[in-house]
Amino acid sequence: MKNLKLVKLNDFKERSTIKIGDSTIGKDFVIIAGPCSVESEEQTMQTAEAVKKGNGNMLRGGAFKPRTSPYDFQGLGLKGLKILEKAKEQTGLPIVTEVIDPRDVSWVCEYADILQIGARNMQNFSLLKEVGKSKKPILLKRGMYSTLREWLNCAEYILAEGNPDVILCERGIRTFETYTRNTLDLSIIPAVKELTHLPIMVDPSHGTGKLSLIEPMCLASVAAGADGLLIEVHINPEEAKSDADQQLTPEQFYSITEKVLKLKKFIDSLDS
Ligand code: PEP
Ligand code: MN
Repeated sequence: MKNLKLVKLNDFKERSTIKIGDSTIGKDFVIIAGPCSVESEEQTMQTAEAVKKGNGNMLRGGAFKPRTSPYDFQGLGLKGLKILEKAKEQTGLPIVTEVIDPRDVSWVCEYADILQIGARNMQNFSLLKEVGKSKKPILLKRGMYSTLREWLNCAEYILAEGNPDVILCERGIRTFETYTRNTLDLSIIPAVKELTHLPIMVDPSHGTGKLSLIEPMCLASVAAGADGLLIEVHINPEEAKSDADQQLTPEQFYSITEKVLKLKKFIDSLDS
């Protein structure tokens, strides 16, 4: 692919790994889970405990929410980041949280272990340049209307600024299908691995928007070679202030991660 320099897989097929806390993305299978939004201290703490209990490796939660309507819950901002900090202190789970404004990058870095760039901001080039200057790993979601070439060029923007630590995340794209929230493109996983050295994770929560489809898509992602999963979990999904329809209860999460980790072991055993 033209113009891809830094993200390109080299002839030695060396793949990037990123060590965060106890896990190394690109080597270990990493499960990032947590609520769509940080809503309160109680909700976040309880969900964080559930993530830990269910073998999650990192806690996700949005403090800045890019909502379709300006009247919808926009996130708690700094207060939300402070709650995430407390959840990290309590559970030891590293924090993954979204940043939506270039002016916030430097101070959000004080709270985040991984900065998430959401689908709606994938091609926000000033934001990409700013996170490219930061020292934090970046979880770069695929834009909902983006081709693989466009996505990889966005990763290239970040690397070109000097930040080598980019994790790609497939979260579904818009197609003519309306039964699912998005169409989860799992064939992108091996395609990304053919072209780049970057790790790739899958987000079946936004990718399907449907509870019943999350488990099969988690398992299919493992089989297709994903480096990890990003899953929305909420202590009480019905009451969630965003994405109430797709957040798993802790029990649903435990049952899925148990199967995911078993399948991962089996898949690895095929290569040995
Ligand atoms: C999210 O992870 O909460 C989110 C808003 O995801 P996306 O950018 O993929 O829609
Ligand atoms: Mn969400």
